[in-house]
Amino acid sequence: MFRLTIRDDKNRYELTELAKMFVSADELDCFAEGGNVFVVPGPDEMDRNAQKRALYRYMSEKTGRELKWGTLTGVRPLKLFNKLVRLTGSPEAAETALKADYLVSEEKTALLRNVWNTQSTVSFDRDPKAVGLYIGIPFCPTRCLYCSFTSNKYSGDKAEAYLAALEKEMDALSRLFREKGMYAESVYVGGGTPSSLEEDQFRRLTDKTAASFLSQKTAEFTVECGRPDSITKGKLSALVKAGCGRISINPQSMQQKTLDRIGRLHRPEDITNAFAMAKAAGVRIINADLIAGLPGETPDDMADSLRKIMDLGPQNITVHTLAVKRGSRLIEENKDLSYSGGDTVCEMLSQAYGKLGAAGYSPYYMYRQKHMTGNMENTGWSLPGCESIYNIRIMEEDQSIIALGAGGVSKIYYPDEDRVERVANVSNYEIYVDRIDEMIKRKEDAL
Ligand code: SF4
Repeated sequence: MFRLTIRDDKNRYELTELAKMFVSADELDCFAEGGNVFVVPGPDEMDRNAQKRALYRYMSEKTGRELKWGTLTGVRPLKLFNKLVRLTGSPEAAETALKADYLVSEEKTALLRNVWNTQSTVSFDRDPKAVGLYIGIPFCPTRCLYCSFTSNKYSGDKAEAYLAALEKEMDALSRLFREKGMYAESVYVGGGTPSSLEEDQFRRLTDKTAASFLSQKTAEFTVECGRPDSITKGKLSALVKAGCGRISINPQSMQQKTLDRIGRLHRPEDITNAFAMAKAAGVRIINADLIAGLPGETPDDMADSLRKIMDLGPQNITVHTLAVKRGSRLIEENKDLSYSGGDTVCEMLSQAYGKLGAAGYSPYYMYRQKHMTGNMENTGWSLPGCESIYNIRIMEEDQSIIALGAGGVSKIYYPDEDRVERVANVSNYEIYVDRIDEMIKRKEDAL
């Protein structure tokens, strides 16, 4: 048992989170007094970064572990990197500060620098009226082992009721955008799995999205088609006709044993077929998601999956690290996987990053989540000129994101104060349908 005395209420949460990156919550007592405890110095003695470094060194010495992200506990390390560039005047000085003040490893500092380099080649619409738009479809064919999202098994009737409510919210927001002079720089239809809708429902959704929110100023329109077994020629032709230029087909792994294990109904060949259909339909950019650290997988499995995915020629590949989250079936099976699988994931990621770099992909956005195996990260890789604007901007929190549908959390950005205010829809889709007028009113009040 690790016993910590944290004499700083203001930073208690962050310090506790840092300690939990070394040992599980069961092994930690953050309110202990007396006995064999580590006392984190209070605010009079040290600033927050110094407190975190002191705690890091204590935990590292006691556990024999090093964390590649050092003392960083937040989900957006690139935001910090950007801030350090502004404060120090150069990316080189920002790298030095990351290593000295936050104990970030050479490897992760270089990753951040590469992401920063890639993002400096992408142009964004800095007009405050330009927003990112998210539309959520909370249905999937089955629930994945690791899923903690708002996802429900597809049912035709329930989807009809949901779409009717969503269309009402789309109409209201489209009206509001016109009144306020706002427009969508990027549109992202995600979930869940939007392509789990029936073909006519899917067409209705993509047509309605296009009619309500696409304009000359819209640079990107993405539709997630995560499960290859939910993709049909009809759906692909509907989305291309509606103006969608980017889709996501998410294999997660190309190993049949893993697909079975995580609760997917498709085979690796279905992924290959879905790619061929998407290319034939004229989709310009395809993203493929892959997860490092899936139960039972070895670094060789992951390397094999990545090779097979790269052979399919996606313009974007997003390498996720498995997160063992509350609300997932996985946490009931093995709540300590995020600690025990750390070394394997580390090896998987460094192999993958090396191969992606050698094949001409660059990292263009990244974020971290709680309970990620080995405290690693998710990183989006792209061929030059194919970076997703929506993904970059949602992570940097420098633009309003308006989210429609159950579980959608809008983030209204106030540039003068560099502040974000959250406006959330309810996450249960049946309650969302019942309370749609209230969801609309929340946005009207916020905008
Ligand atoms: S596809 Fe995504 S949203 Fe659907 S069950 Fe799997 S993890 Fe959850």
